[in-house]
Amino acid sequence: MEVAATGGHSFMLIGPSVKDMMALARRFKTIYEGDYQIVEDATNSKLYVNGSIPLLIAMMWPCQCGNFTHPKKMCKCTPVQIQHHLGSIPSTILDRTDIHIEVPFLNKEYAAKRIGEPSEDISKRVVIARGKILEWRKKLVPAITGDPDMDKEAGELLKLAILELGISPKAYDKMMRVAMTIAAMDDKGVIEAHHISEAISYRSLDRNLWG
Ligand SMILES: [Zn+2]
Repeated sequence: MEVAATGGHSFMLIGPSVKDMMALARRFKTIYEGDYQIVEDATNSKLYVNGSIPLLIAMMWPCQCGNFTHPKKMCKCTPVQIQHHLGSIPSTILDRTDIHIEVPFLNKEYAAKRIGEPSEDISKRVVIARGKILEWRKKLVPAITGDPDMDKEAGELLKLAILELGISPKAYDKMMRVAMTIAAMDDKGVIEAHHISEAISYRSLDRNLWG
């Protein structure tokens, strides 16, 4: 969420609990000061319009049995049902979201104690990192022409990711934008391999690791 707030990246929440996803989407408001829109039903593409496009938060509803991606409970759906479930996400939403966030199932104790860093602290970091992002955006032009500022190791990892994971040009573009945000947050002048791998980890629906 910090990466999304810093770079202004639209994201999709994926998890077994609608309540937890909603809670996370609302918490986002405290660290992101800007216009954003929550699409509660990812299968409803009608919610998608607007002249001035706000940052979009989409949520993928749980599967039929409700346990898909649940850390402790077994999903009882058939592979066909799961494929259908994943296929129900409109491509317009996939194309518009830069980051896919898997939301863990939070137990009541965790939620009550509100373990984790206070939103205010994250918010302060986000403001500082956004200044660095502006510097990075100036470097976007060379990145588009095929000469991104990245070290050799990052370039090799990227080539491997494209070959092995079959990342589409659209997904590549989103991944690079996210990698730039992460590098800027890390206060680095170039994109390093771990920035690329973190950005790849945020594209779980492209990576098709679910089937
Ligand atoms: Zn299921």
